[in-house]
Amino acid sequence: MRRTRKVKILATLGPASSSEEMIGKLFDAGADVFRINMSHTDHDGMRALVGRIRNVEERVGRPIGILADLQGPKLRVGKFKDGKEDLVVGQTFTFDDSPELGDATRVHLPHPEILTSVQAGDRLLIDDGKLELRATKCDGRSIVATVVAGSGISNRKGVSLPDTELPVGALTDKDRADLDAVLEAGVDWVALSFIQRPEDLAEARKIARGRALLMSKIEKPQAVARLAEIIDLSDSLMVARGDLGVEMPLEAVPGIQKQITRAARRAGKPVVVATQMLESMISAPVPTRAEVSDVATAVFEGADAIMLSAESAAGQYPAEAVSTMNRIAEQVEKDPTYPTIISSQRSKPEATGPDAISLAAREIAETLKLAAIVTYTASGTTGIRAARERPQVPIIALSPILNTARRLSLLWGTHCVVSPDASDLDDMVNRACRIAHQEQFGKPGDRIIITAGVPLRTPGATNMLRIAYIEGSAADGA
Ligand code: PGA
Ligand code: MN
Repeated sequence: MRRTRKVKILATLGPASSSEEMIGKLFDAGADVFRINMSHTDHDGMRALVGRIRNVEERVGRPIGILADLQGPKLRVGKFKDGKEDLVVGQTFTFDDSPELGDATRVHLPHPEILTSVQAGDRLLIDDGKLELRATKCDGRSIVATVVAGSGISNRKGVSLPDTELPVGALTDKDRADLDAVLEAGVDWVALSFIQRPEDLAEARKIARGRALLMSKIEKPQAVARLAEIIDLSDSLMVARGDLGVEMPLEAVPGIQKQITRAARRAGKPVVVATQMLESMISAPVPTRAEVSDVATAVFEGADAIMLSAESAAGQYPAEAVSTMNRIAEQVEKDPTYPTIISSQRSKPEATGPDAISLAAREIAETLKLAAIVTYTASGTTGIRAARERPQVPIIALSPILNTARRLSLLWGTHCVVSPDASDLDDMVNRACRIAHQEQFGKPGDRIIITAGVPLRTPGATNMLRIAYIEGSAADGA
């Protein structure tokens, strides 16, 4: 089984898609990686999903990536006597440290560190910005604020503080417990929500000890301001447009999406564009024209993956949402403008063996119209650098390590295959040709280009390029 597009599809699992049957359907429709949202999934539920994804993986015979998304320091107000209150513009409303139920004048804000860091003039956005207040008086135990826009507030609604740098790390106690559990369950990627600073990655990095790679969700202005440093310390990025669009003006989001995808591509860090991509498909079998155009934009930008949230997790048409994304991506990538748009954002190689070899492999493959670039990559590093080149020909990443293949399933243009280490050069060439044929990337008579590190099994030593013919016998010996 091979996909015929370069961009990958990341589908969030939830009530609409938690059965093994539906996960299989989503894979068949085009989902390459699945996201488990730890804001809405308990540990048993998470382990059950991981088990079902692994069963599907076994059945389809393709490595499948799993991304566990940690909730992060999502702030919420407490509860109200009557469940909710209607406020009026211009009125005063207080957030305080008293656990008593709220009313039309006040509510509990159960985050002491927030009460001490908000300053007069800072905005408080409730429920994704539906209610906006501005702080007027703060004494460390309460924030007195004026309602600027909107009216409704109710139990446990989210609070965004776009103007306040919060004195909290990216991991809450819940996140630490979730992180241990998802690592134990063997997920491939862990997403960190609401990170603000590069240091916010340190603790998760230390706990993960290489068992999973880290994805930084860029959803706060503080993270946008320090994007370059955050990219440096991340393994991948998510343009988390949902919260980003609450914390920043909506009209700033498209430009920031471009900045993040470009910077991530330059750094060779996989980048995901997320949220509301096909939002109307939560309740309709077809998307809007604007949504199709939004998905197309992310594909034209050369994002590694495009993501479905509620569309696949809780909508009425999860499989249709995936197949719609798949069709849009395939069509965009066939458009005559696509190759030049993609290559216009290609960056120069860094001065390393894997980058120089990846550049050369791409140029040779495109010049000679080869069937595929086959790259031997144990840790995945060389595979990632090969994808950074955004070659027109497909990349086949061969790794002896299943975890590497699962991780790389997020990667643009990369088809991952688990294959034991080659015993010598001949074996390496034959194996690459045989797999390219088996996986339907080429037929006897086609040529491929192979990159590898010689001597074999030396990590980071990619130093070899070899053009080879797929021979009838190599293919027959499969
Ligand atoms: P979420 O993250 O779905 O976990 O909120 C994505 C976003 O904010 O866009
Ligand atoms: Mn978010």
